[in-house]
Amino acid sequence: MRGQRSLLLGPARLCLRLLLLLGYRRRCPPLLRGLVQRWRYGKVCLRSLLYNSFGGSDTAVDAAFEPIYWLVDNVIRWCGVVFVVLVIVLTSSIVAIAYLCVLPLILQTYSVPRLCWHFFYSHWNLILIVFHYYQAITTPPGYPPQGRNDTTTVSICKKCINPKPARTHHCSICNRCVLKMDHHCPWLNNCVGHYNHRYFFSFCFFMTLGCVYCSYGSWDLFREAYAAIEKMKQLDKNKLQAVANQTYHQTPPPTFSFRERVTHKSLVYLWFLCSSVALALGALTVWHAVLISRGETSIERHINKKERQRLQAKGRVFRNHYNYGCLDNWKVFLGVDTGRHWLTRVLLPSSHLPHGNGMSWDPPPWVTAHSASVMAV
Ligand SMILES: [Zn+2]
Ligand SMILES: [Zn+2]
Repeated sequence: MRGQRSLLLGPARLCLRLLLLLGYRRRCPPLLRGLVQRWRYGKVCLRSLLYNSFGGSDTAVDAAFEPIYWLVDNVIRWCGVVFVVLVIVLTSSIVAIAYLCVLPLILQTYSVPRLCWHFFYSHWNLILIVFHYYQAITTPPGYPPQGRNDTTTVSICKKCINPKPARTHHCSICNRCVLKMDHHCPWLNNCVGHYNHRYFFSFCFFMTLGCVYCSYGSWDLFREAYAAIEKMKQLDKNKLQAVANQTYHQTPPPTFSFRERVTHKSLVYLWFLCSSVALALGALTVWHAVLISRGETSIERHINKKERQRLQAKGRVFRNHYNYGCLDNWKVFLGVDTGRHWLTRVLLPSSHLPHGNGMSWDPPPWVTAHSASVMAV
């Protein structure tokens, strides 16, 4: 940026100097002297207006990309509604196929204990998916208080011009600061932060579990349906050929009914959709599980990585002060205080609040002294 500016200003400056030299030597006329003074004045004005001690190539690149960021933020904001509708429609389609196509088939073939197990597991899984998704999209992630307050803050948000507590970050899509911000999720049309992080993760986990269950459980049905579709295609092809050659003198071979065709195609759709979601969402869930085990959010992962490298170069060790050890991190994250909570707060729908207010980050009292002192590196 500076190089380009000097390239443009260089020749102008040279001309002026020549003019000045010539002008002063030959007793500069008042008109030229006035012009020179105005040029100097203009230059000082321009410099005073553009001067910024924090300015540099990064600032210039940020400013140049600002319209693109604005466009992306707005597109994601509007796409959020479409994505939420998509999640609801696709999930509902799988549930409808399970009731209308899979259930009649397994009722004829499965034993009663096996049917009971599938009935209880599938409904438990479905209830947890619906509950956590609803909570994740409707629960605000948590926002820092506006204006002056007693909260301990670590910096000021450049966009909100408001104090930021530790672990708080600004979301450019929501256009506000979010407590313990993890990321903005278009599939929830909401930010994932302090108050809905558990709902987001539980939704991902139970949705992956449900997709693996559907994909694995419908494997045999999928193979049969796929073979039937291939047969259908072949029969349709033969029928067309027979009509074209006019060699069709006997009763046509039995073809598949409309209901059978729809059932087979629905089963293939179910298997493909569930397998794809299980793979993609499974990978995302594993990644978030790793972050939770380390006591980090997605944003802190990048910040901590840079800080770790910076301190390593100086021969020092980085400590993440929000990491209480793997098990305690999970207990804090899930809000598990007693053994019974694993059942009532994790395996059953629960709307309990997370530990703390998202602004101060003291470890919960039950976090053992050992965990607090050996905060993993
Ligand atoms: Zn902000
Ligand atoms: Zn957001």
